Amino acid sequence: MITRFAPSPTGFLHLGHAFSAWSARRLAPDGFLVRLEDIDSQRCRPAFAAAILEDLAWLGLSWTGEVRVQSAHFDDYRAALDRLAPFLYPCFCSRADIARQLSAPHGAEPAYPGTCRALTPAERAARLAAGQPHAWRLDASTARRAAGPLRYVELGEGWIEADGPIDDVVLARRDIPASYHLCVTHDDALQGVTHVVRGEDLRAATPVHVLLQRLLGFETPVYRRHRLLRGPDGRRLAKRDNAATLREMRAAGAAPAAILAGFEELA
Ligand SMILES: [Zn+2]
Repeated sequence: MITRFAPSPTGFLHLGHAFSAWSARRLAPDGFLVRLEDIDSQRCRPAFAAAILEDLAWLGLSWTGEVRVQSAHFDDYRAALDRLAPFLYPCFCSRADIARQLSAPHGAEPAYPGTCRALTPAERAARLAAGQPHAWRLDASTARRAAGPLRYVELGEGWIEADGPIDDVVLARRDIPASYHLCVTHDDALQGVTHVVRGEDLRAATPVHVLLQRLLGFETPVYRRHRLLRGPDGRRLAKRDNAATLREMRAAGAAPAAILAGFEELA
């Protein structure tokens, strides 16, 4: 079994991240990979990357092999993107455009309303030729027709039919020739990850990844969800909440063994 922990180095690790890493490692202590998802050079910092590895080591969560650093592999992602070309369209919308398009009622609607999917080939070509900034989105309904029914195994739950809506997700950003969905799918396959352990907040992303796996001819790993740690106020721990970082806990005298024992009780 191969699992992985794949943080983005945009800050220090907090207890919720550590629990996620511990959950993955517990499933496959001898096949636990660490990957740094740092394609966003605006938000990621080498200093945070170094601190994450140091904090994992402090906690005793040793990993197998080399740490894969995504920012060193843009050629890989471009090649994967090229293979998906029949299912991509350029999206010229800015964040503000999309927010305006979505000012309609909120709910379970997809995040992107498909505006640029409706452009004519001539409009598309003219805007590309004019050099307008654009992302590349997945035409999810066309892709699904090509891929057929999507199903995957969620450990402890069995087969899940992924028959709900899938958004036209961004596979290459305006500012970066790749995206989270593309890189994570590519790297899990490249690294032979057999079990993806992730917080339940990421469950919605799984059908997108299974779809991309089908299109790219990759094996689908087994998925497993873990609960999210919550703070004393009941809200999930996140960077923006100033959740306790491992650094702060360590400075305050916390012992790794006590933290890991706490995880055992929560699992
Ligand atoms: Zn658009």
